[in-house]
Amino acid sequence: MANTIFKKIIDGEIPAKIVYSDDQCLAFHDVKPQAPTHVLVIPRKEISSLAEAETDDAALLGHLFLVANRIAVDLGLKSGYRVVVNCGVDGGQTVDHLHVHLLGGRGLGWPPG
Ligand code: 5GP
Repeated sequence: MANTIFKKIIDGEIPAKIVYSDDQCLAFHDVKPQAPTHVLVIPRKEISSLAEAETDDAALLGHLFLVANRIAVDLGLKSGYRVVVNCGVDGGQTVDHLHVHLLGGRGLGWPPG
């Protein structure tokens, strides 16, 4: 797998505003937020996209979503939030390291663009 910008954040080579960290994942504020709260939750394991996740990753994928909810609670997103996983070119994925977007702090339109 290519050494992505997110791998560099995991390795501490570039800074990020980290809001949560454990042995499986890391979460930090998006550098270009699309909502008042925009956090990325990423696995420490290098998985390039959801399309590359395997059955053995099931618990890890579940953990990412549970962590996203925990962060939403911690950041006071009482009226709701959205989690998004962009996958591949049509999905708008730009960083080839699996990540869950946590967006909140405003009403979010549907359908997305
Ligand atoms: P994607 O488009 O792949 O679903 O999401 C990638 C996200 O990573 C984008 O929202 C983008 O703003 C964010 N991002 C890209 N580079 C950096 C960076 O160096 N630091 C942080 N914190 N976020 C980044």
